[in-house]
Amino acid sequence: MAVTAPVRVRLAPSPTGTLHIGTARTAVFNWLFARRHGGQFLLRIEDTDHERSKPEFTANILSGLQWLGLDWDGEPVIQSARVAEHRAAIEQLLASGHAYRCYATEQELTAMREQQAAANLPPRYDNRHRDLSREQQQAFRAEGRQATVRFRIDDAATISWHDLVRGEMRWSGADLGGDMVIARRAPADQIGDPLYNLVVVVDDVAMAITHVIRGEDHIANTAKQLLLYGALGAAVPEFAHTPLILNQEGRKLSKRDGVTSVNDFRQLGFLAAPLVNYMTLLGWSPPEGMEERFSLAEAAAVFDFERVNRAGARFDWDKLDWLNAQALHALAPESLRSQLLPLWTAQGWALTGPGADPAWQLELCELLAASLTRLPDGVGQAAVFFERPVANDAARTQLAVDGAGSVLAALLQALAATDQTSTALDRTALDKTAAKGLLDGAAKAAGVNKGVAMKSVRAALLGSLQGPDLLSSWVLLNKLGEDRPRLAAALN
Ligand code: GLU
Repeated sequence: MAVTAPVRVRLAPSPTGTLHIGTARTAVFNWLFARRHGGQFLLRIEDTDHERSKPEFTANILSGLQWLGLDWDGEPVIQSARVAEHRAAIEQLLASGHAYRCYATEQELTAMREQQAAANLPPRYDNRHRDLSREQQQAFRAEGRQATVRFRIDDAATISWHDLVRGEMRWSGADLGGDMVIARRAPADQIGDPLYNLVVVVDDVAMAITHVIRGEDHIANTAKQLLLYGALGAAVPEFAHTPLILNQEGRKLSKRDGVTSVNDFRQLGFLAAPLVNYMTLLGWSPPEGMEERFSLAEAAAVFDFERVNRAGARFDWDKLDWLNAQALHALAPESLRSQLLPLWTAQGWALTGPGADPAWQLELCELLAASLTRLPDGVGQAAVFFERPVANDAARTQLAVDGAGSVLAALLQALAATDQTSTALDRTALDKTAAKGLLDGAAKAAGVNKGVAMKSVRAALLGSLQGPDLLSSWVLLNKLGEDRPRLAAALN
């Protein structure tokens, strides 16, 4: 696709909840498109729903985007601050005859919809006040009736556009539900609160948006908005409607699915980079030859709408976990440590003595990194270093096999011997080579093979036959002064 004008796109979140994964994915596509074309990615906070909009949600949305690495250009536009412009546009539409006041009461509209339902017709406004005479209007006003402002939608109109994702789109004016309310009910000499479709168009025009990229649940709005562009005499942007995110059952991902906000994913232990990588894959596929693991910058270099699917994108936890695991395995120990430290502290693990030593913590992180899928795995797998484990069944069985006791006894003896020699290892300065030597020696002394020796020492030190590398784990426990007591306890 050839893009000529400088690209200006926007994300227009409503601050009525925390940053939703669907909004974040829309943000990703906007960001990628803007960066691909050296354009601007703008933010507009759509806070015109006064009751449901909250500053803390705005703060959450901004910090979530930041966390994901989706930096925006300039200051966010605050929609509620632009209400004078919205009203001016409504005045303009009233003056040009594209809009009119509708005095129908809530009861009248309800009765109308009930009749339609009884006749099995879809609900729509029947345009009853479209062509009121001056006298009729005055009569309604004299009654003290309030009025909405409605925008004329010609039933005979055909609305079409070339969607960057979905191709040729066509809507019939007759399918848009009749003349649309653009300002809420208010005393008839005023203009009530301007409504979504009008406000979005006025703001997109004011912000000189060139491409409107948003979820496909907005397609019908696009048809209505195109009519507004025409009536306001404004240049029409391009539109790209991105596929919905579906749950495992193939239905639209919703609050009922539990995990829907970026916060939730963060809480579950996903890192920003793999999460944003995964969100890009929700609907977009990288070109031939490009791996599925990529950074935002790498995706931005090749992103286009031709590779965005029309079909809904089913959420695949396995793929997200895989991407997260890859990212955790590759994480520098220093970064992993700063991510895990707060989680360790939250466990109430007193990080004192050698366990408070950053060097020791880094060594632990290096050991754990390779087996993590989500960050909290770095809590579960670290537990054995902060708390003495209770041996599980397999470990207890192992400690009861022939030769297990002798090997532990031999090992303790060897450790005691090294403690006495002044040139020998410091009690807590065991390294892997020395540990290996001690283990081999103990196996020999006890007359058991190395396999039995290793399993028995693992059972004694870690309380389980599974887990991280034995010698590295031992070295870490040795620094805490934890190896001797655990070996001794296993002997009893
Ligand atoms: N505030 C709207 C929403 O959150 C914006 C839709 C749009 O991008 O126009 O759905």
